[in-house]
Amino acid sequence: ENASAPNFIRNQIHDEIEAGRAGKVVTRFPPEPNGFLHVGHAKSICLNFGLAEQFGGDCHLRFDDTNPAKEEQAYIDAIKADVSWLGFEWAGSVRYASDYFDQLYAWAQHLIREGKAYVDDLSPDEIREYRGTLTEPGRPSPYRDRSAEESLDLLERMRAGEFNEGERVLRARIDMASPNINLRDPILYRIRHAHHHQTGDKWKIYPSYDFTHGQSDAIEGVTHSICTLEFEDHRPLYEWFLDNLPVPAKPRQIEFARLNMNYTLTSKRKLKLLVDEGIVDGWDDPRMPTISGMRRRGYTPASIRKFCEMIGVTRADGGLVDIAMLYHAIRSDLEDNAPRAMCVLKPLKVVLTNVAEDFEEVYEVPGHPARDDMPVRRVPFTRELYIDQDDFMEEPPKKFFRLAPGQEVRLRNSYVIRCDEVVKNSAGEIAELRCSVDFDTLGKNPEGRKVKGVIHWVSAAHAVPMEVRLYDNLFLVEQPDKDKDADFLEHLNPESLQVCQAMGEPSLADAAPESRFQFERVGYFCADRHACRDGKRVFNRTVGLKDSWAK
Ligand code: ATP
Ligand code: MG
Ligand code: MG
Repeated sequence: ENASAPNFIRNQIHDEIEAGRAGKVVTRFPPEPNGFLHVGHAKSICLNFGLAEQFGGDCHLRFDDTNPAKEEQAYIDAIKADVSWLGFEWAGSVRYASDYFDQLYAWAQHLIREGKAYVDDLSPDEIREYRGTLTEPGRPSPYRDRSAEESLDLLERMRAGEFNEGERVLRARIDMASPNINLRDPILYRIRHAHHHQTGDKWKIYPSYDFTHGQSDAIEGVTHSICTLEFEDHRPLYEWFLDNLPVPAKPRQIEFARLNMNYTLTSKRKLKLLVDEGIVDGWDDPRMPTISGMRRRGYTPASIRKFCEMIGVTRADGGLVDIAMLYHAIRSDLEDNAPRAMCVLKPLKVVLTNVAEDFEEVYEVPGHPARDDMPVRRVPFTRELYIDQDDFMEEPPKKFFRLAPGQEVRLRNSYVIRCDEVVKNSAGEIAELRCSVDFDTLGKNPEGRKVKGVIHWVSAAHAVPMEVRLYDNLFLVEQPDKDKDADFLEHLNPESLQVCQAMGEPSLADAAPESRFQFERVGYFCADRHACRDGKRVFNRTVGLKDSWAK
C-alpha cells in the first residue's frame, strides 16, 4: 500500500523516466545528529526511502555533521535505530558529510584560485550588518578583493588553528546586491575549535551547511535532493556551487512542505528543552513526538508509515495536520492486530457471596474476535474479583447500565451478578461490594428481565498487578509555539501523565516488552520496552478506543 500513494515528486520522477531522462534514482535522508528524530522526520524518511523503493533506486543515510558543538554519537546511534525500526534500509554504509571534509577543503581552495571566494576578517556582527536586508542591498566587505594568494594562506592558517573563533571566515564571492540574501557572499567556512565525533581534533574550521550539502549529494551521486520548503531560497546557492566546482554529478534540489501537527512540537531544539528541563522522561518519553517516544508509546512502524501516506506530500504548505489522524492510523492497526485482554485500571473488590471459597472455573476466550490465529486466553473466575471503580455508582443516574446497589450487570464472558451490599471503611470510602451470581446466565440471557450492561473484571486470586500509564497530549493548545515571543512551556498539559495501579488478567503476566493489547472497554496498551524487564510490569496507553478523526 505504501508504494501506491502518488505525490508530486513521485510523478515528476515518473515523467523523467518516461522521457528517458532518468537513470537510477538516488535519494538521501540527511539528519543532523543534534537530537532524536521526530514525526516530521518520519515524513521525510518515508518520502526518501519510499521513492528509492518505488523506483528500484537507493536511499542513503547521511549525517549532516558540520556543527560538532551540538552533535553527539548517542544521537547518531538513536537515529540509525529509528530508521531501521521504521523498516527502511539505507544503501551501503552510513555516510557522514564529514567524510568529505578533505574534498570540500580542496574545493574551497579551488574557488579562491578562481577568484570566487575570499577570507574575510569582518566579525560575525559586521558580516550580518554588511549583508543588508530584504529592502536594502548589501555592502562589500573591505576584504572582498583580497588576493587569492593571501586568502589561500589565511585559510590554511585558519585550518591550522592559528586564529580564534570568529576572527575570520571564508566567503564565496557572488553578489552583494542580489535580491536573494543567500547569494550575498555566503559563508563557506567558520573557525570552530571543537572536537568532532567523527574527525576528532583534525579540523579547526568547519564548512557551512550550504557549502556542504549539495557537494555531498554530488559526491554520492544523489539524483533528487529532497528538502523542506525553508530551503527554497537556498536553491540558487545549491546550484551555484554545483556550477562553479568540478563536481562529479548534478543533483537537483526539490522542496516539499514540512509536517506541522496540532498539539505537537516538531523542532529538535524545543524537544531538547523538554528533555533538558526534566519535563519529560528523556527523548523517548511516550508523550514525545519522537520516533523513539512513539515506539515506546506503542506505535507500530506500519502505523507511522500509514500516517505518512495519509498526510501525503505537497509543495504547498499544508497547514496543521490533525493529530487525530495519527491516532486513527495506530488505532486501526491495533484494532486488527492486538490481542484482547481484561485489565482493571482502578480496582474495586467484589465478593460473590454465593460462590464457594474454593470455586474456580476457567473460560476459554478468543485472543481476538476476528483472528483465530491468535491463542485463546484462559480467564479464571473465582469468588473474589476486581471491577473498575468507574463501573460502580452508589447513586446512579438514570441509564447507568453498570453496577449499582440492587442493580444487575453482566461480567464479560461470565455471569450476571447483582450488587447486594456496599461495604465501607472507617473513612466512609467504598472498600468492597458484596454481590451474588445468577448461575443460570452463563452464555444466556437471564429469565424474565434484561441486563444491558457488560463490564470487565479479573479474578482477584489470579490478578496480575501492573502499573498502567495513561498519556495525553503534552500541550493544551493546538500550536504551543505559535507566538514566537511567548514561552511554549506555559501551555504544558499538567495531566499529560496519569499513573494507575491496575490489575490485569493472567494472559498479561508474561507480556514481552513492546507487546501490544487492547484492554477491553479501555483502550490500546503497550508493554513498556524499558520498564518491562526483571518481572516489572508497566503498560503505556497508546491510544483510546474512540476514533475522533472525521474522514
Ligand atoms: P529541526 O528543526 O527539528 O532541528 P531539521 O530540519 O533541522 O529539524 P534535520 O536533522 O536537518 O533537522 O532534518 C533531516 C531531514 O528531515 C531534512 O531533510 C529535513 O528537511 C527533514 N525534516 C525535518 N523536520 C521535518 C518536518 N517537520 N517535516 C518534514 N521533514 C522534516
Ligand atoms: Mg537541518
Ligand atoms: Mg535544526
